[in-house]
Amino acid sequence: MRVLITGAAGFIGSHLCDKFLREGHEVIGLDNFLTGSPENIAHLFGREGFTFLKYDVTNFIYIEGRVDLVLHFACPASPVDYLNHPIHTMKVDSLGTLHTLGLAKVKGARYVLASTSEVYGNPQVHPQPETYWGNVNPIGPRSVYDEAKRFSEALTMAYHREHGIDVRIARIFNTYGPRMRMEDGRVVPNFINQALRGKPLTVYGDGSQTRSFCYIDDLVEGIYLLSVKDGLEGEVFNLGNPEEYTVLELAKLILELSGSRSEISFLDRPVDDPDRRKPDITKAKKVLGWEPKVSVREGLKKTIEWFRESLS
Ligand code: UDP
Repeated sequence: MRVLITGAAGFIGSHLCDKFLREGHEVIGLDNFLTGSPENIAHLFGREGFTFLKYDVTNFIYIEGRVDLVLHFACPASPVDYLNHPIHTMKVDSLGTLHTLGLAKVKGARYVLASTSEVYGNPQVHPQPETYWGNVNPIGPRSVYDEAKRFSEALTMAYHREHGIDVRIARIFNTYGPRMRMEDGRVVPNFINQALRGKPLTVYGDGSQTRSFCYIDDLVEGIYLLSVKDGLEGEVFNLGNPEEYTVLELAKLILELSGSRSEISFLDRPVDDPDRRKPDITKAKKVLGWEPKVSVREGLKKTIEWFRESLS
């Protein structure tokens, strides 16, 4: 297949480029480096089958030739990033989604949207199945991401219903691993960075809020299966690891695995920070035959090693 990946220089996007190339597909990567980094794809430059365009998908997109699959993965995804770029985040999930869907339409391509567990907001149902409609504050600071992704999902389904495009939606839960930016502000890179530098680990609130953490290789496998399998038009899938930790447990685990003697400091909790989050992945297991294989311990060990090397 000839695959277009937006957000190709991002954390997940760059791993997807690797995966699709490894599986023998051609990849055209787009990124404007707002939160992505050329370093994430430097190893791919000059590789046969890989083309890269520095481009902002909020502008009209023109691609010459055939495109079989569009993966729309461009978007700031860390709360710190999307709060720093609130309007651009909303543009990439409205104009960017519109342009990539328009491209899929003219090319007759299949379309995969990177959505998020944030569409569930601060969930009142636990764990969250795809059928849950969520509990989102439409005017809170996080709404620039939550509502934008909900709009992206709605637009994607509208293109499916009105134009018959073969669309699939991946609701991605917290994912971590190599190539996350050290300063991206999310909990895993923050804690690892702090642990390795001997600085206090910054737990927001009392750390009793939970998240469920998926290792990047598992997530990429799930997205690949969701992209290549036939007969999934208009389907939405939770992709994540149901292993649930409180933020305080995560801090302690990272201290243990990194051998750090950093202390833990308690800071204010961000506004509208979800209390609990855990994917119900029954559907992905049944339909895609997918479930995460890497435990949180194992994945964190690999990630800590990668961060250690990047720091040295
Ligand atoms: N968090 C924390 N310390 C940090 C960064 C994040 O305690 O240095 C908490 C944050 O309040 C949230 C959880 O960790 O409850 C996950 O935050 P993250 O920014 O990774 O992503 P989110 O799941 O909120 O999108």
